[in-house]
Amino acid sequence: MNVEMQCCGLILDLLLIYFFLRHETVGLYSERLFRMSLVVNTVCIVLDILSVFAIIMTDILPAFVVALVGKLYLVSLVAASFMGFLYTSSGVQHLRDSETFNKIIKIIFGIGALFVLLLPISFFRDGRVVYSYGLSAVATYIFAPFFIIWALVLTFSHGKYMSKSRRNAIRAWMSLEILAATLQFIFPKLLLVGFGSSIGLFILYCELESPEAFLDRTTGIFSFDTMVMYLRQLFSSNRKFTAIMICTEDEWKMDNEQESRILLEMSEFLHSFPGAKLFRSTGHDFMMIYATEDEAKDQIESVINLDVIKARFQQAFDGTMVIDARFLYIPDPRIATDFDEYFEICRYYKDNMERNEISRVLDEAAGQNIREQREIKAEIVKALEENRIEVHFQPIYSFREQMFVSAEALARIVNSEGKLIMPGLFIPVAEEYGLIDQIGERVFEITCRTFRNDRLQEKGIHYLEVNLSVAQCEDRHLSDIYHGIMKREQIDPTSINLEITESSTLHYRNILLENMNLLSQMGCSFSLDDFGTGESNLNYIVDMPVQIVKFDRSMVQDYFRSDRAKIVMRATVDMIKAIGLKIVAEGVETKEQLDAMEELGVDYIQGYYFSKPLQEKDFLRFIETHNRVA
Ligand code: C2E
Ligand code: MG
Ligand code: MG
Repeated sequence: MNVEMQCCGLILDLLLIYFFLRHETVGLYSERLFRMSLVVNTVCIVLDILSVFAIIMTDILPAFVVALVGKLYLVSLVAASFMGFLYTSSGVQHLRDSETFNKIIKIIFGIGALFVLLLPISFFRDGRVVYSYGLSAVATYIFAPFFIIWALVLTFSHGKYMSKSRRNAIRAWMSLEILAATLQFIFPKLLLVGFGSSIGLFILYCELESPEAFLDRTTGIFSFDTMVMYLRQLFSSNRKFTAIMICTEDEWKMDNEQESRILLEMSEFLHSFPGAKLFRSTGHDFMMIYATEDEAKDQIESVINLDVIKARFQQAFDGTMVIDARFLYIPDPRIATDFDEYFEICRYYKDNMERNEISRVLDEAAGQNIREQREIKAEIVKALEENRIEVHFQPIYSFREQMFVSAEALARIVNSEGKLIMPGLFIPVAEEYGLIDQIGERVFEITCRTFRNDRLQEKGIHYLEVNLSVAQCEDRHLSDIYHGIMKREQIDPTSINLEITESSTLHYRNILLENMNLLSQMGCSFSLDDFGTGESNLNYIVDMPVQIVKFDRSMVQDYFRSDRAKIVMRATVDMIKAIGLKIVAEGVETKEQLDAMEELGVDYIQGYYFSKPLQEKDFLRFIETHNRVA
């Protein structure tokens, strides 16, 4: 009997099934279709062997049994190529989601199977060589190659939707099928098709579908790439699920071995909750995802308990290391419209949790917030392109000189309808999306130009104050860029005072110091902004080469809250003055506040009492009027 080839194919298929089933699978479409292809191909080979037996036993078996087995084999052959086609087209989302497309291919397959079953079949038998022929076999040779060739064509016509390795693996699989079918067509005694298909599936397994390919090497849980594919699939199929994101510090201060041990320990713990799939997200983060459709929800949630997870992370890993972890709980995926937005929301809240916040529930409002931010981002980008960044100037009054000696440059965006967008709204978004450098530079350019063009120096303004954001201070090129702008705008660096704010990272502090030293050497001076808010402490004044400290508006208001606050503020002022620094009080709105600040020994006043931030023209008029009178 010529069944050697089929037996080889069968062994190969059984091995593949064994290896495939040994691991947990994620449940991706391609995974499911691969498993079905494997099953169909195995059935096809078994039927092939059975039909060879049946043909040999034509004398004993009733003719219709032989014909039925032979035809079932041929149908399974068409089914195997149909599976190959389905596998290929499932990689193209719009084809996979198209109901019409799926209906059409199923109808074509149905017609093919019907032809094969209904048309007559004959068998050839000569010693150990047997094969089938006749119209039923002809139908098989039309429909099976039809699906194979169509799949092959898809890898070219829709290749851009598939990864290179997917394209190549499918091409190899389909080419092997065609080669085997052609050889079998020319030499009907060589029953190669089943074996060819098995080798094709083997290539597919090695290249794409080996469960190991979906795993993270360090932890053995599903990798980040798998998570992306899985989440995309959940979104495209509109499935409801809950996710818990476990976020830890980006950098762990330990050697690689210990890092791997801890990651492994964490993943083992998190993997111990049945019903959830565990993924390694970016860096040292994990993502637990579980379906929350229908009644399964309560059952799963009775097992997966965020408090239990939190409690575990309060204890040490690897014996001694307590890892700082935060948790995002996302009960409903509908906070986002697609995967990209979903991941953007997770990342944003991961990066923007309050210092003491351990966990946060992300709901509809969280998603809405991100969408609004994205709109603001688009507005910033357009404003930068269309030159709609404006700078307003808020005069700063000097008690000693009894006139306005400087002003703070404050950014505004004029939106397409001519309305002003305030920095409180767009500066944090610009910082988040890496646009703050461009805004900062634009504001700096306009400020320098205004100082020169309006001859502010002659009008009593010694310097203008410009805000620097933390991200700008962390940029090693900052001093070069700002030097370049001052040179281009022909302005003396002593006319510029840069406002810095405190940030807790050491990395920031080092580069900031470098930038400050370089800019100071050119002649720029510095102010410490936001003093008195949560971010500031006295150490900063000691370490940083600043000349001015700017009291935040909240501090000025606090002064009037209690006698204790007064004492603290007085002591603070004394300390700062003893070091030799000047003080600006911001947010002074009333005469009472003004007098109190003067009495305290504050040097400068910035606030609505004198003026709100003004457009360039109005600012110029203000200075010309008030400083002349003074
Ligand atoms: P800031 O640097 O502390 O600026 C002072 C803010 O307090 C300004 O708000 C100013 O209009 C406001 N202010 C001043 N006096 C009073 C007052 O008497 N009462 C009240 N209620 N508010 C007063 P603005 O212009 O909305 O700016 C907010 C923040 O946005 C600034 O705080 C600064 O941190 C940031 N910002 C503004 N422009 C820029 C910029 O060009 N670059 C960067 N990085 N940040 C900027
Ligand atoms: Mg400021
Ligand atoms: Mg301030």
